[in-house]
Amino acid sequence: MIAFENVSVSFDATEALSCVNLQVAEGVLCALVGPSGSGKSTLMKLVNRLVEPSAGRVLVRGADVAGQDPARLRRSIGYVMQSTGLFPHRTVAANIGTVPRLLGWDSSRIATRVADLLELVQLDPDLAQRLPGALSGGQAQRVGLARALAADPDILLMDEPFGAVDPITRRDLRAELRRIHAGTGKTILLVTHDPEEALELASQVVVLRDGAVVADGAPAALVAEDAPEFARTLLGGGQ
Ligand code: ATP
Ligand code: MG
Repeated sequence: MIAFENVSVSFDATEALSCVNLQVAEGVLCALVGPSGSGKSTLMKLVNRLVEPSAGRVLVRGADVAGQDPARLRRSIGYVMQSTGLFPHRTVAANIGTVPRLLGWDSSRIATRVADLLELVQLDPDLAQRLPGALSGGQAQRVGLARALAADPDILLMDEPFGAVDPITRRDLRAELRRIHAGTGKTILLVTHDPEEALELASQVVVLRDGAVVADGAPAALVAEDAPEFARTLLGGGQ
C-alpha cells in the first residue's frame, strides 16, 4: 500500500532521511517513533508529496507518487498535521468540508457529512460555526481529525495528532482512532512520542534515529529482550 525504496531526503546541508526502506501493508496501523529531528514528519510528508525524495522512490497503492498530481494525491490521503493546521478564517464546518468541497460534493451532502463527523469525534454540533481560534486545543485536534476523515480516504497520515491535549482527551481520541481503524481497515501512519500509544494502537512500529530506520516490527518484538537497545529504551521495554 505504501512503500519507501532507498529513499533519502536532503535539505541543504541536512540529510533528514538516508536510504530508508519500509513497507506498510494495506489496512495496517503503523506507528513512527523516534527522537525529535529523527525524520518522522519528513517520512510522512513524502507520501503526499509535501516533501520530495532526493534519491529513491515512494509508492502509494503500487504507483510512484512522483508521477502523480500533488493536489489529486492529497485529496485521496487524509492528513492530520503536527500543529492542527486548521484554516483560521474558516469555520469548523468549512474546515471539515475542505476536501469534499474540492471534490465537488453538493452543499447538502457536505452538511450531512460534517454533522456525522462532528458526532464521530464527539464534538458539540453547535461548534460547527465557530472559528478555530475559539476552540480549545483538544477540540481543534478533533476538528483536524474530522477534516482528515471527511472524504473517507483509505490512507491516513497523522503527525502527533493528539500532542497538545490532556491525558483524558488523549485517551478518548486514541479510542476513537482505534474504532475508526477497526471499522474501516484504513492504512494509517501515526507519528507519536507516546510509547504507550504506539504499543497499544499499532501492529507495526518503526523506529527512526538520525534519519534511518533502526527497527521495524511488531510491538512485542521491539520491546523483547533481544530487540535493539535503542528501540527498547525508546518504547520503555525492559523497565
Ligand atoms: P519532531 O519529533 O521534532 O517533530 P521529526 O522526527 O518529525 O521531529 P523532521 O521534521 O522530519 O523530524 O526533521 C528531520 C530533520 O530535517 C531535522 O534535522 C530538521 O531540522 C530537518 N528539516 C525538516 N524540514 C526541513 C526543511 N523544510 N528545511 C530544512 N531542514 C528541514
Ligand atoms: Mg515532526
